[in-house]
Amino acid sequence: MKITDINGFAILSNGIKIPYLGLGVYQVNDGKEVINAVNFALETGYRHIDTASLYDNESGVGKAVRESTIPRSEIFVTSKVWNSDHGYDSTLRAFDKSIKLMGFDYLDLYLVHWPVRGKFKDTWKALEKLYKEKSVKAIGVSNFLIHQLNDLLSTAEISPMVNQVEFHPYLVQQPLIDFCFKNNIQFESWSPLMQGNITKVYLLNVLAEKYHKTAAQIVLRWNLQKGIVTIPKSVRKERIISNSQLFGFELSEADIKEIDRLDKSYRFGADPENFNF
Ligand code: NDP
Repeated sequence: MKITDINGFAILSNGIKIPYLGLGVYQVNDGKEVINAVNFALETGYRHIDTASLYDNESGVGKAVRESTIPRSEIFVTSKVWNSDHGYDSTLRAFDKSIKLMGFDYLDLYLVHWPVRGKFKDTWKALEKLYKEKSVKAIGVSNFLIHQLNDLLSTAEISPMVNQVEFHPYLVQQPLIDFCFKNNIQFESWSPLMQGNITKVYLLNVLAEKYHKTAAQIVLRWNLQKGIVTIPKSVRKERIISNSQLFGFELSEADIKEIDRLDKSYRFGADPENFNF
């Protein structure tokens, strides 16, 4: 895998391009804070923003994207349907609300945020409808484990193009990554920076010194070299910039494996097998 600059993209199963690097905006306030973060990211060269109805900042994301000098068609925007909106009709209503808040006439990627048991198949049918009517360029899921993906694939008319899951050095889930790539589902990582805890990991600091990079850059580069789309969150201009400086160096295969070995199946977020929200 050779990704040489910030404009590098993966190609989804339907031919749509998704930039490998995006800005995550979970826990970023709507209004000034999210508008500034999106503006910093776009100025830096990011062309991919990840939001969700849950984050309550779709309005600010939409405003920043619409008011930027970069054409809408060059910016990849993701949003997600929240758990309380599962079901066919309610998903269509939730999508309508999201897109109105953003002021867009289409979304690049719409995801089922969590695999709510007994409900996600109806929700998926709504996403298929949105895709067929071209309201979204791509559809996918988030927080799906292998058995949930198999369940969905067994009845889906259109296969999910993306699975966005928690992924970082303490939670690698290699069998899930392999399953996704085998089934042409792009693997995308959330909380890639371990919610800011990367600098506490000894090996990452050692590698940062070895490559003259930050621990964050090492981890994000590890994502890219594994073919994973990644969406680090920051509201600080200097970090938004440094988190994008992932090019012009390459981790050795041995160092990639060393990072893989940090895996201890540790989750900062909820377990998709057992969540109660
Ligand atoms: P991240 O792993 O991206 O970490 C974000 C934290 O790290 C923030 O506190 C940020 O602080 C800090 N940080 C950013 N850059 C650096 C750096 N270079 N050095 C040290 N600390 C840094 O966590 P998130 O949970 O936000 O995940 C990323 C995105 O993934 C979310 O924003 C969201 O878009 C998505 N997501 C999706 C979920 C899902 O269920 N689908 C669940 C959770 C997240 P500061 O802002 O002050 O710089």
